[in-house]
Amino acid sequence: MKLLVTGGAGYVGSVVASQLVEAGHETVVLDDLSKGHANAVPEGALLVEGSLLDEGFLRETLSGGFDGVLHFAALSLVAESVEQPERYYRNNVVGTLNLLEAMVETGVRRLVFSSTAAVYGEPEEVPIPETAPTRPTNPYGSSKLAVDGLIRDVARARGLCATSLRYFNVAGASGRFGEDHEPETHLIPIVLQAAAGTRESVKIFGTDYPTRDGTAVRDYIHIEDLGRAHLLALEASEPGEHRVYNLGNGSGFSVLQVIEVARKVAGVDIRAKEAPRRTGDPPELVASSDKIKTELGWKPEKPSLEAMISDAWAWMQDHPGGYE
Ligand code: UDP
Repeated sequence: MKLLVTGGAGYVGSVVASQLVEAGHETVVLDDLSKGHANAVPEGALLVEGSLLDEGFLRETLSGGFDGVLHFAALSLVAESVEQPERYYRNNVVGTLNLLEAMVETGVRRLVFSSTAAVYGEPEEVPIPETAPTRPTNPYGSSKLAVDGLIRDVARARGLCATSLRYFNVAGASGRFGEDHEPETHLIPIVLQAAAGTRESVKIFGTDYPTRDGTAVRDYIHIEDLGRAHLLALEASEPGEHRVYNLGNGSGFSVLQVIEVARKVAGVDIRAKEAPRRTGDPPELVASSDKIKTELGWKPEKPSLEAMISDAWAWMQDHPGGYE
């Protein structure tokens, strides 16, 4: 297939783009490089630099006979979304609306969208099924939920074949592709920066949660497992259909467990300091991924936290300055 990957210079997008190239698909990456890195675009994929807010550019880019779009381009910092909700809605919602309109105009039928567990907010039950109530607790999650609804409605009206994948905590690295965010807010890279000595210590956000060790529990999924689900999702939906799948391991690890495993993997001590809870962080987020397992035959091949942290650590050792 000929496929467009928006946000394909970012962490998840670049890994999926590399898997698409490897599977023999003609792959074009569209990225504004505001967060992504030009040298994260895999060999064999073409980089087109531009924004989803530029409708003419989108139409022109998509007019080259594409079979589908994998849509990763988005703003994704929770705290920033609270400060700048307009920017988040413009980028994430208006950007996707432009993309959908350009797809309809140019006859591109298939779409896979990078959604998030943040649409569920504070869950009533864990593991969280796709049928759980969606009550996001920040504008980032609200903007992603709005996009899920937008895609559902446009898919139905215009006959698109669409799937939203709701990611839990993506971790690890894949070959030469890894995590390089500025600023870095995610637990595993922060812990590994502390192991590498580029950060003095890790703050543990909350030690009084109702969990086994008092720290928050998350469902970490290996980036390669997450990536493979996109290739399956691409061919799953029928015209007019919008499917939604959670993507996680189905098992939770606490902040303390992550730090402990990182100490073992890196073979060094990691300084950790107790800190207050981060606003809006639920105690436990774990996915039920039964639906994608049953319907698409997906299953995680690297479910161990140690495998994820080892791969992330190896990438960091090979790329001490990230992609620069
Ligand atoms: N966390 C932490 N210290 C940090 C960064 C994160 O204790 O420096 C915690 C955070 O409160 C959450 C978990 O680690 O419970 C995972 O956070 P992350 O930002 O990686 O992902 P999130 O679950 O928020 O999407």
